[in-house]
Amino acid sequence: MFGALPDLALTSQFFLFIFRKNKINWKNKKSVAKNTPDYVFKLYNLSHSLITWAVCFTLVYAIIGIDSLFMIAWLLHILFDIPTHEKGFFDTKFLYPISDYSINGYRWSNKYFIIGNYFFITLSMILVFLSII
Ligand SMILES: [Zn+2]
Repeated sequence: MFGALPDLALTSQFFLFIFRKNKINWKNKKSVAKNTPDYVFKLYNLSHSLITWAVCFTLVYAIIGIDSLFMIAWLLHILFDIPTHEKGFFDTKFLYPISDYSINGYRWSNKYFIIGNYFFITLSMILVFLSII
Protein backbone atom coordinates (compact mmCIF):
# COMPACT_ATOMS: atom_id res chain seq x y z
CA MET A 1 0.00 0.00 0.00
CA PHE A 2 2.78 2.43 0.84
CA GLY A 3 4.19 1.94 -2.65
CA ALA A 4 1.05 3.51 -4.13
CA LEU A 5 1.30 6.61 -1.94
CA PRO A 6 3.06 8.83 -4.51
CA ASP A 7 0.16 8.47 -6.96
CA LEU A 8 -2.52 9.53 -4.46
CA ALA A 9 -2.53 13.11 -5.75
CA LEU A 10 -3.24 11.92 -9.26
CA THR A 11 -5.80 9.34 -8.12
CA SER A 12 -7.68 11.93 -6.08
CA GLN A 13 -7.88 14.09 -9.19
CA PHE A 14 -9.40 11.17 -11.11
CA PHE A 15 -12.19 10.87 -8.51
CA LEU A 16 -12.77 14.63 -8.59
CA PHE A 17 -13.35 14.36 -12.33
CA ILE A 18 -15.88 11.59 -11.77
CA PHE A 19 -17.74 13.55 -9.10
CA ARG A 20 -17.80 16.68 -11.24
CA LYS A 21 -18.90 14.60 -14.23
CA ASN A 22 -16.18 16.31 -16.17
CA LYS A 23 -15.94 15.00 -19.71
CA ILE A 24 -12.24 14.59 -20.12
CA ASN A 25 -10.67 12.50 -22.80
CA TRP A 26 -8.19 10.51 -20.70
CA LYS A 27 -6.36 9.37 -23.83
CA ASN A 28 -5.69 13.00 -24.80
CA LYS A 29 -2.71 14.26 -22.79
CA LYS A 30 -3.48 17.90 -23.55
CA SER A 31 -7.08 17.54 -22.34
CA VAL A 32 -5.99 15.96 -19.08
CA ALA A 33 -3.17 18.46 -18.51
CA LYS A 34 -5.42 21.44 -19.30
CA ASN A 35 -8.09 20.31 -16.83
CA THR A 36 -5.73 19.34 -14.03
CA PRO A 37 -5.21 21.98 -11.33
CA ASP A 38 -1.63 23.10 -10.63
CA TYR A 39 -1.71 21.73 -7.09
CA VAL A 40 -2.05 18.21 -8.50
CA PHE A 41 1.15 18.63 -10.54
CA LYS A 42 2.94 20.07 -7.49
CA LEU A 43 1.78 17.22 -5.24
CA TYR A 44 2.70 14.72 -7.94
CA ASN A 45 6.18 16.23 -8.32
CA LEU A 46 6.71 16.36 -4.55
CA SER A 47 5.57 12.78 -4.04
CA HIS A 48 7.79 11.57 -6.91
CA SER A 49 10.92 13.35 -5.69
CA LEU A 50 13.89 11.45 -4.30
CA ILE A 51 14.60 14.52 -2.18
CA THR A 52 11.13 14.45 -0.57
CA TRP A 53 11.50 10.72 -0.01
CA ALA A 54 14.97 11.13 1.57
CA VAL A 55 13.74 13.84 3.95
CA CYS A 56 10.66 11.83 4.98
CA PHE A 57 12.65 8.60 5.31
CA THR A 58 15.27 10.30 7.47
CA LEU A 59 12.59 11.75 9.75
CA VAL A 60 10.68 8.49 10.07
CA TYR A 61 13.92 6.53 10.56
CA ALA A 62 14.97 8.93 13.33
CA ILE A 63 11.62 8.36 15.06
CA ILE A 64 10.96 4.64 14.63
CA GLY A 65 14.31 3.25 13.44
CA ILE A 66 14.55 0.04 11.43
CA ASP A 67 10.78 -0.31 11.29
CA SER A 68 10.82 2.49 8.72
CA LEU A 69 11.95 0.08 5.99
CA PHE A 70 8.36 -0.02 4.69
CA MET A 71 9.20 3.34 3.12
CA ILE A 72 11.47 1.54 0.65
CA ALA A 73 8.23 0.79 -1.27
CA TRP A 74 7.86 4.53 -1.89
CA LEU A 75 11.47 4.71 -3.13
CA LEU A 76 10.88 1.76 -5.48
CA HIS A 77 7.77 3.47 -6.85
CA ILE A 78 9.83 6.55 -7.76
CA LEU A 79 12.65 4.46 -9.25
CA PHE A 80 10.18 2.48 -11.41
CA ASP A 81 8.39 5.66 -12.52
CA ILE A 82 11.56 7.40 -13.76
CA PRO A 83 12.00 5.22 -16.89
CA THR A 84 8.27 4.56 -17.42
CA HIS A 85 6.92 8.08 -17.96
CA GLU A 86 7.28 10.26 -21.02
CA LYS A 87 8.43 13.86 -20.85
CA GLY A 88 5.62 16.40 -20.71
CA PHE A 89 2.96 14.19 -19.13
CA PHE A 90 3.48 13.38 -15.48
CA ASP A 91 7.13 12.76 -16.08
CA THR A 92 9.07 11.91 -12.95
CA LYS A 93 10.96 15.00 -11.80
CA PHE A 94 12.96 13.02 -9.29
CA LEU A 95 15.08 15.99 -8.15
CA TYR A 96 12.09 18.28 -7.54
CA PRO A 97 12.02 20.99 -6.10
CA ILE A 98 15.73 21.57 -6.79
CA SER A 99 15.41 20.69 -10.47
CA ASP A 100 12.66 19.91 -12.99
CA TYR A 101 14.93 17.45 -14.78
CA SER A 102 13.26 14.26 -16.00
CA ILE A 103 13.99 11.42 -18.36
CA ASN A 104 11.94 10.82 -21.50
CA GLY A 105 11.04 7.28 -20.56
CA TYR A 106 9.17 4.44 -22.16
CA ARG A 107 5.45 4.97 -21.64
CA TRP A 108 4.02 2.39 -19.21
CA SER A 109 0.59 2.47 -20.90
CA ASN A 110 2.12 1.10 -24.11
CA LYS A 111 0.40 -2.23 -24.92
CA TYR A 112 3.69 -4.16 -24.92
CA PHE A 113 4.56 -2.78 -21.50
CA ILE A 114 1.08 -3.62 -20.19
CA ILE A 115 1.32 -7.19 -21.55
CA GLY A 116 4.74 -7.62 -19.92
CA ASN A 117 3.47 -6.07 -16.69
CA TYR A 118 0.49 -8.43 -16.41
CA PHE A 119 2.66 -11.38 -17.43
CA PHE A 120 5.08 -10.74 -14.56
CA ILE A 121 2.26 -10.03 -12.09
CA THR A 122 0.61 -13.34 -13.06
CA LEU A 123 3.95 -15.17 -12.90
CA SER A 124 4.65 -13.67 -9.46
CA MET A 125 1.23 -14.68 -8.17
CA ILE A 126 1.69 -18.24 -9.48
CA LEU A 127 5.09 -18.46 -7.79
CA VAL A 128 3.67 -17.13 -4.51
CA PHE A 129 0.75 -19.56 -4.76
CA LEU A 130 3.08 -22.50 -5.43
CA SER A 131 5.31 -21.55 -2.50
CA ILE A 132 2.28 -21.59 -0.17
CA ILE A 133 1.22 -25.11 -1.15
ZN1 LIG B 1 3.84 7.26 -9.72
